[in-house]
Amino acid sequence: MAKVKLLTVMIPVFNEEECINDLFDALNNVSKSLSCDCEFLFINDGSTDNTLNLICQLQQKDNRISIVDLSRNFGKEIAMTAGLDYMKGDTLVIIDADLQDNPELLLTMVAEIENGYDDVYAQRTSRKGESVLKKTTSFLFYRLLAIMSSVPIQKDTGDFRMLSHKAIKALQQLKENERNMKGLFSFIGFKKKAIHYVRDERKAGKTKWNYLKLINLAIRGITAFSIKPLRIISVIGFLISLISFIFFIKVLIKALFYGDPVAGYPSMMSAILLLGGLQLLSIGVLGEYLGIVFSETKKRPIYFINDYYNTSYNQEPQHD
Ligand code: UDP
Ligand code: MG
Repeated sequence: MAKVKLLTVMIPVFNEEECINDLFDALNNVSKSLSCDCEFLFINDGSTDNTLNLICQLQQKDNRISIVDLSRNFGKEIAMTAGLDYMKGDTLVIIDADLQDNPELLLTMVAEIENGYDDVYAQRTSRKGESVLKKTTSFLFYRLLAIMSSVPIQKDTGDFRMLSHKAIKALQQLKENERNMKGLFSFIGFKKKAIHYVRDERKAGKTKWNYLKLINLAIRGITAFSIKPLRIISVIGFLISLISFIFFIKVLIKALFYGDPVAGYPSMMSAILLLGGLQLLSIGVLGEYLGIVFSETKKRPIYFINDYYNTSYNQEPQHD
């Protein structure tokens, strides 16, 4: 299999001033053991602290660094998309800035890419320093995603992964606005390989996630990849109609032949409430899909760039 020549290390950063220097030291150390060249591509996702200054200072000293400075905070999914457009390497690895993803794994990943794999992803066997609630919800999130989506999603896998040239080319063609990269990584297919690791605690700073963002990501993860929820509400609707019809015949026969008075306030109330709830839920599901159609039809650019700081490698970035 072809050797990796230039590895782009993509780091989406949003207010990570406490982590930048440690991260770069760690990456720099690992790069010394790699036989390929490295491009360190920082995507500044609208940081409001000193992050951009710090990376610019690093860039003055080390010309392997390039920086894409986004016009505002777009979120990690879109930051990664910008990175895909601006990367120069033949191979790509995406890594978090907070040192939760162990840079040492890059060595194994490069070896696996050179063995012919296209998507070498780090799968966590356990995670340190995260609350039981976060672990449980994350556990449920991956299982629900797996059941609901039409493409197989790798469980307990973040965005820490290395991609071959083929996989990168495929991802660059996916231009949808509502993006969930985890889904897209699965969608493109190719030869995948898991590497197991223990996910460390965040070295400094705070996590940028909150439950609202996670719920949003989960809903997008499902609705952007599968129409199963629509199927499910159709099936529920069908079953309820069937049951109601049988029930209606039974009530009719009882009233006609046995003169049974129609009774039952409680059963009527529960039927109304149940059906009302199901209808609202179904409209909600429809609304989610309508929302996607709405944002896709506007055909807005996915992100805007404030500035691009180039490396000294003389290839042009891959974007058009
Ligand atoms: N990040 C980003 N944009 C955002 C939120 C996060 O680029 O809007 C980056 C962040 O700087 C970090 C990575 O995405 O490098 C992972 O974020 P975080 O550590 O907060 O997520 P967690 O590890 O808690 O899931
Ligand atoms: Mg983190």
